[in-house]
Amino acid sequence: MKEYDLIVLGSGPGGYEAAIRAAQLGFKTAIIEKRKTLGGTCLNIGCIPSKALLESSELFHSAAHKFELHGISHEKLKIDVKKMLQHKNSVVKATTDGLSFLMKKNKIDVYYGYGRFESSHVLSIDGKEKIEGVRIIIATGSEVVSLPHIPIDEKRILSSTGALDLETTPKHLVVIGGGVIGVELGSVFGRLGSKVTVIDVMPGLIATMDRELGRGLEKVLKKIQFDYAFESKVTSVSYKDEKTLKITYEDSSKELRTIEADYVLSSIGRKAFTEGLNLDKIGVKLDEKGRIEVDEDFKTNIEGVYAIGDVIKGIMLAHKASEEGIVCVERMKGRKSKVNYGVIPSVVYTWPEVASVGRSEEDLKREAVAYKVGKFSFKASARARVSDDLDGFIKVLADEKTDEVLGVHMIGPRSADMIAEAVLAMEYRASSEDIGMMVHPHPTFSEALKEASLDVHGESINQ
Ligand code: FAD
Repeated sequence: MKEYDLIVLGSGPGGYEAAIRAAQLGFKTAIIEKRKTLGGTCLNIGCIPSKALLESSELFHSAAHKFELHGISHEKLKIDVKKMLQHKNSVVKATTDGLSFLMKKNKIDVYYGYGRFESSHVLSIDGKEKIEGVRIIIATGSEVVSLPHIPIDEKRILSSTGALDLETTPKHLVVIGGGVIGVELGSVFGRLGSKVTVIDVMPGLIATMDRELGRGLEKVLKKIQFDYAFESKVTSVSYKDEKTLKITYEDSSKELRTIEADYVLSSIGRKAFTEGLNLDKIGVKLDEKGRIEVDEDFKTNIEGVYAIGDVIKGIMLAHKASEEGIVCVERMKGRKSKVNYGVIPSVVYTWPEVASVGRSEEDLKREAVAYKVGKFSFKASARARVSDDLDGFIKVLADEKTDEVLGVHMIGPRSADMIAEAVLAMEYRASSEDIGMMVHPHPTFSEALKEASLDVHGESINQ
């Protein structure tokens, strides 16, 4: 039986980054993956393919609605959805192939097949070959939550995975769940011309983020035919005929309503994936939501067995998983690395993009923290006027006494990239005055962060 210092089970962003870091630090490392390709949910059916479709559909939408403003005209604009999917698939292939290269480069042994614990230090692969590890990291990620009354068949009742391969543009897409995945994939089809109805039990879109962001997003997505039923609960989805679905839901006044659509996307959430790992056999403890319990070293209750990423508690994001993987391995080596959970950014890749780091106004109110608010609207940004991206704003929340930045929330052009500046500022515990004093290049969207920071003190110049 081959022996390793570390075996990583699962090759998503958590697992593969942990494996690379381990190899860098001198561990003899192996990784096991049940898919045919490396990269997990993120590279195969998550972050990367969804961003490829968002990019393509945004280009189409811009060509249809924005080019004219710049004097660019076209005769007959068309979208070839199959070609759009080919592009998405080639991006995924290039990215997952790149990972295979990185495994070779770092001399990590890759095993393809289903990994199962035979004992706390031995894993079998597809029930055949066995390998032994001094340490094992479980990085098996998450899977789609499906409910019996919304029977996903990936034909017309889709999960995110099915939606990423849909070869047609729905006439009417009903999205159940207005969280990040629902609004991102909904907006892909909205931009291509679908009518999109979002049904959610929550009072608005992306409800876990600062409420002002959700309200802003609701407004802009209406421009691409989004419609909403909030505080509403879907009670059934069924086929009326081959091409028509009937969606019944209880609306906010408890009345039952039925609408029809040709496609439904169920995006009600994801749950930790631990199926068939034999965790009960070795006695690994799970919490009430089926996630693996770990301590601050990412150790489970079983000696030598660790867990990171979507399979443990916390926000389900690729960069959270990666950071945990790296910190987990570094701590095995005695380093004092730590994940700073207070500054993990969240991004929604709609257009305009939504991005956020730190605490929301709702959090601060709940925690009774006295805070000041600074805001800057993209309507007052010269750069945003150039590209006609005037929707949105940046909001900076700072401690009333110390002025330390407690949260930054933005909806606007290129927020996904701009949030990194706020992360840096918060990592170094900057004050809003610090950001306000930094010179930002002109004209850029990033000036809005400086202006919002100045506005915390009522000193914004350009609004
Ligand atoms: P995963 O990526 O889920 O990887 C786990 C891997 O383990 C999988 O490859 C699985 O096949 C393998 N595995 C499981 N069990 C076994 C076993 N027994 N044997 C062998 N292999 C096994 N996050 C972002 O940060 N940004 C985004 O833009 C973003 N977009 C998303 C879009 C969509 C549509 C979806 C669904 C998710 C998105 N996410 C995004 C979330 C992100 O994909 C996850 O948070 C991230 O992939 C979690 O990483 P992980 O390593 O914990 O697990």
